[in-house]
Amino acid sequence: MDLLNTLVDKGLRHEPPTRSEALAVLATSDDELLDVVAAAGRVRRKWFGRRVKLNYLVNLKSGLCPEDCSYCSQRLGSKAEILKYTWLKPEQASAAAAAGLAGGAKRVCLVASGRGPTDRDVDRVSDTIKAIKEGHEGVEVCACLGLLSDGQAERLRAAGADAYNHNLNTSERTYGDITSTHTYADRVDTVRRAHAAGLSACSGLIAGMGETDEDLVDVVFSLRALDPDSVPVNFLIPFEGTPLAKEWNLTPQRCLRILAMVRFVCPDVEVRIAGGREVHLRTMQPLALHLANSVFLGDYLTSEGQAGRADLEMIADAGFEVEGTDRTTLPEHRAAAGAGCGGHGCGDGDGGDGGVCAGAAPAAGPAAAEAADEGSAPAFADEESAQPVADGGSARGDAAAPAAAAPRTDLVAVRRRGAGTDLAPNA
Ligand code: SF4
Repeated sequence: MDLLNTLVDKGLRHEPPTRSEALAVLATSDDELLDVVAAAGRVRRKWFGRRVKLNYLVNLKSGLCPEDCSYCSQRLGSKAEILKYTWLKPEQASAAAAAGLAGGAKRVCLVASGRGPTDRDVDRVSDTIKAIKEGHEGVEVCACLGLLSDGQAERLRAAGADAYNHNLNTSERTYGDITSTHTYADRVDTVRRAHAAGLSACSGLIAGMGETDEDLVDVVFSLRALDPDSVPVNFLIPFEGTPLAKEWNLTPQRCLRILAMVRFVCPDVEVRIAGGREVHLRTMQPLALHLANSVFLGDYLTSEGQAGRADLEMIADAGFEVEGTDRTTLPEHRAAAGAGCGGHGCGDGDGGDGGVCAGAAPAAGPAAAEAADEGSAPAFADEESAQPVADGGSARGDAAAPAAAAPRTDLVAVRRRGAGTDLAPNA
């Protein structure tokens, strides 16, 4: 396919595709999908080999956010039955982080719900960063606290933060549809503040909120222009109790195309599969490792991931290796280029949150509810139990196999262990 040859050639030179080429990746057929994965996989291996970076989320403060991001289970008015708690103490956060690091993570992502931190919050997080770094030499710490005000990025950097995550989430055109309490420009401003303070910028997106292919390409090109070191790709988890609860728009194949497009547009950047990996990629997760070079280990902010052990087994079975602290994540030309961690200065890597800005496992979309009402969602045999069933059932018997496009509400599990609970974290 000429398109794929062109994209590989450009990716190996860390040049971006054209916008129409990026759109063409999203428009490829299922018959072409393995060729797309193989092509993007060549670019991934050129810059990241077969290494997979593991990141570990610690939700410092969960729920009760005054912002109204419609995808977020922690939003204002959310009816999602998530854990709600205020700031973890530094020793509590450090204990949670230790579990992830023992499980193989090299980066800890400290996330807090909210519009943005107060100066006192920055003090708290600074103490937490110091507590984690004291006990774990070489660990990378990324903070994700929402919109930053003057001087806060610099204070976090001085406290030892390596990176700062703040996602753009969707295109500028549609941003107002998913959030009314802050703007796309606010988000861009915070990414720039982090960058300017010498923090490794991490900024990504959420797919599956009812956006068009053009929106997806727009946000990924906007991210490229911001030059983050890492780009987390979230797949919306349509949480019950949020406005996007009916937005089940993704198939495993669609997720793979999106990851391939992101890889082609950001060839030499850490591309991280974030929230929704298990829910939407499902048994196709190992193929996604050929596209992304980074994942979260264990659980997300407000939802549970597969067992950390299963993450490690999947990586090994697929022929990849967990990246150690002795390796710089980003390619040499990026790691040497700036001041951040990995790509802009301090070492390597990025940060993310598996969900969204300050916290949150993504929920569902704007024009999304409309689409669902029009019957785009698959039929359920039993509305009460909401167990998906394939048309016509299974060829092997009575057990119904879910169709690829069927909502898999059964795979969404609210986090009930780890930070904020008495139960051990999943790592
Ligand atoms: S994404 Fe962040 S700012 Fe938005 S509602 Fe969730 S926690 Fe609040």
